[in-house]
Amino acid sequence: MDIKNYINGNFQNPISNNWIDNYNPSNGEVYGQIPNSNKEDIEQAYQSAKSAFKLWSNTTLEERSRIMLKISELIEANLDKLAEAESKDNGKPLWLAKAVDIPRASSNFRFFANAITQFASESHESIGQNAINYTLRQPIGVVGCISPWNLPLYLFTWKIAPAIAAGNCVVAKPSEVTPMTAYLLGDICNEAGLPKGVLNIVHGLGTSTGQAIIEHPNIKAISFTGGTTTGAHIAKIAAPMFKKLSLELGGKNPNIIFADCDYEDMMATTVRSSFANQGQICLCGSRIFVEASIYEQFKTDFVNKVKALKVGHPSESDTKVGALVSKAHLDKVMSYVEIAKEDGGIVLCGGNSVTIEGYENGYYMQPTVIEVPTDECRVNQEEIFGPVVTIMPFNTEKEVLNMANKVVYGLSATLWTNDLKRTMRISNQLQAGIVWVNTWLMRDLRTPFGGVKNSGVGREGGFEALRFFTEPKNVCIKY
Ligand code: NAD
Repeated sequence: MDIKNYINGNFQNPISNNWIDNYNPSNGEVYGQIPNSNKEDIEQAYQSAKSAFKLWSNTTLEERSRIMLKISELIEANLDKLAEAESKDNGKPLWLAKAVDIPRASSNFRFFANAITQFASESHESIGQNAINYTLRQPIGVVGCISPWNLPLYLFTWKIAPAIAAGNCVVAKPSEVTPMTAYLLGDICNEAGLPKGVLNIVHGLGTSTGQAIIEHPNIKAISFTGGTTTGAHIAKIAAPMFKKLSLELGGKNPNIIFADCDYEDMMATTVRSSFANQGQICLCGSRIFVEASIYEQFKTDFVNKVKALKVGHPSESDTKVGALVSKAHLDKVMSYVEIAKEDGGIVLCGGNSVTIEGYENGYYMQPTVIEVPTDECRVNQEEIFGPVVTIMPFNTEKEVLNMANKVVYGLSATLWTNDLKRTMRISNQLQAGIVWVNTWLMRDLRTPFGGVKNSGVGREGGFEALRFFTEPKNVCIKY
């Protein structure tokens, strides 16, 4: 199935007629072509967004909100179709796309449709000076949104929804590896009555299409989610043009387990936080640290549970681990098993690719647990972004905090304990943008979302996202 760019409400081929293959990770086959758009396509998308901006930025909040709620409803109404497309493009289990990815895309529109009606700005009375200051929160204009392949529609809409709610018009690029649901969103936006040009979706490689968005002199804000190396590259280009930047980047998140935790709850959640979506969630807890007194018990129970996870075709309802997103990614993840061994790691389970009958060319891998001799080895320091976790014991709070923080990343952290004082001490000192205690990936869309250190700059979520997509302007009136 071939897909097209969505510009000014129309579906069109790339101007250069340059196309790239779209693979189905579950069987390794090419099942369609996607545009590899260039500067000219981006210019068209920009012009379309620019023309729409005057109307959209002056559209009442009630009307913007009404259209966005309609988009949300239509995503829900198309749940099956979108989930099937997501699973086929990405390799994730179909049940997961149905239960999480697509409903969350719908929630993103619903949430920001409501949030914008509650978004207020400040005023300050300058006492004794007969003056009042008030702050306008004005849309930026045309903004760029670039998203990754791991949670395709979920993260694409997490950017687009606040951007358009705030009155901007958008040039957006989904990952070239998973473009399908973003393509289908175009039809939904037309059906919902989103005015032409408010959202433009342009497909292609990061180095051509993405780069053209970043380099466009009049796209004044970039919201990016993806790898840390790409984020650094984008920052270098955007900084001299003084673009506003939101960067949501990689992670290497610690999962810290104390002996006083609720063991069963911790175990079930730790299996999920390690291997959900084939371990391809930036928030997965890929470094597991366990208090020494329960380490041996944990190791036995965890490995038994992981061995029982079914690796299978994404369409099968009992599949727990589907296909990895691409051959290149599978090779990269697999290479870390060898790196771990060279560094003295012991593979406790997994470590191999999997061949599934009927889908022999799919990109499957066993969920893998590696016991590491030190937290400083490469598998414990570098983002793998696949079904591979490391485990090691710790003795003291100080020691585990030190290891948890001793990476370049700082996205999220998980802590398992029932000791309130310890919870407070550790949460305060963890270098992370998000800390979960006795849970994982529990999300409330009002909360700030993002990382510190090499995990990014800025926050998404709630009013943080609406602040990013608006420029504050202070007006001071003397009376
Ligand atoms: P990536 O950086 O390769 O690509 C992300 C997007 O950027 C894609 O759309 C890609 O085409 C585009 N891109 C690539 N080069 C570009 C360039 N030169 N200019 C402009 N755009 C360019 O990342 P990925 O492999 O798609 O995703 C995996 C990474 O994303 C992991 O590191 C993961 O941790 C991270 N991630 C972070 C979060 C978060 O919220 N912090 C969420 C999900 C994924």
